[in-house]
Amino acid sequence: MAECKICGAPVTSNVCGFCGGVQTPPVGREEELDTLNALVEAGQKLALSDANKGSDVPVATFWSTAWMPTHPDALAQAAMLALQGAMPGAEEYDAFMSRAQAALDGLRMAAPTDARSQVIQARIAEKREEARKHDAEMSSFYLKFGIGFVLFVVCTVVFLYLNGAFEK
Ligand SMILES: [Zn+2]
Repeated sequence: MAECKICGAPVTSNVCGFCGGVQTPPVGREEELDTLNALVEAGQKLALSDANKGSDVPVATFWSTAWMPTHPDALAQAAMLALQGAMPGAEEYDAFMSRAQAALDGLRMAAPTDARSQVIQARIAEKREEARKHDAEMSSFYLKFGIGFVLFVVCTVVFLYLNGAFEK
């Protein structure tokens, strides 16, 4: 079995299932889009096997090292795919968001006048806002939970006190 040129893991196809590196770089729009599809499949496969192991850290690593296309169409596609994968609160969220940003930067370099850049930029901002709201909701949940717990303890103590539990 061949070894991945980037991470050394055993590979059976052009896309490494562990680091998302490509063994032979694709050439041109069609090949890049095909490779992107293969990459998404490999990422999903990894996510499934990680879910069984109860961990999603390797998925984050995969998407932070995964191959990045160079053709504007493939870059735009890579950015949108990364945004689709970015779920607020998930461990791989940051990796997906960095990948979306990197693909956007690549698109701006490869095709400075491409209108898709603005669409992607707006989607990134939306996602960040979504994540901010999610975090705020989570912290307000824990805050309410904390206050509820303190009140419960205070009420219990008062109840026991009134019932003479502390009298000798
Ligand atoms: Zn690899």
